[in-house]
Amino acid sequence: KSGYVALVGRPNVGKSTLLNHLLGQKLSIVSRRPQTTRHRILGIKTDERGQAIYVDTPGIHGGGQRAMNRYLNRTAISSLLGVDLIVWLVDQAGWLPDDALVMARIKEAKLPVILAINKVDRLNDKDVLLPFVAEADALGMFSDIVPISALKGVNLPVLEKRILALL
Ligand code: GDP
Ligand code: MG
Repeated sequence: KSGYVALVGRPNVGKSTLLNHLLGQKLSIVSRRPQTTRHRILGIKTDERGQAIYVDTPGIHGGGQRAMNRYLNRTAISSLLGVDLIVWLVDQAGWLPDDALVMARIKEAKLPVILAINKVDRLNDKDVLLPFVAEADALGMFSDIVPISALKGVNLPVLEKRILALL
């Protein structure tokens, strides 16, 4: 199993933190150079189960001039072309308008999507996640929904297992 995994999400949801934790010491290759015209490869993780090639996507967010928004959106869409799987990060604290923008781009890509609900270490009572998960599930657009803490490493083995299963 081997494939390209796009990490998407609005700024500050924890994409960089997740990548650092996933790659950790098993990091094979990190390159900040563009590898192709489409992908900016952040890291390749190989183990006995397979290989996941994590790619960056331009930050998807609103604001700025309209021409700039159109440009960012086009760039974001094109960066999703040719990946095999999308991991969409959201914050357990809730949705912001930028999350809706991300969702629109993701839907257009027509790829399998794992929703990763990040920063669950901030929750004292994990039960409050249930409505969040139920709402997300009702959207019918996710292959998996995985609560995680990128910072503390909570549930990351589960996330990786799901990623590899879908590649
Ligand atoms: P990015 O903009 O999506 O790449 O987000 P970053 O990885 O830079 O993280 C943004 C902020 O959220 C930083 O202050 C991180 O330390 C924090 N953060 C990321 N993941 C977690 C998490 O799982 N739990 C908590 N409490 N904070 C997190
Ligand atoms: Mg970042």
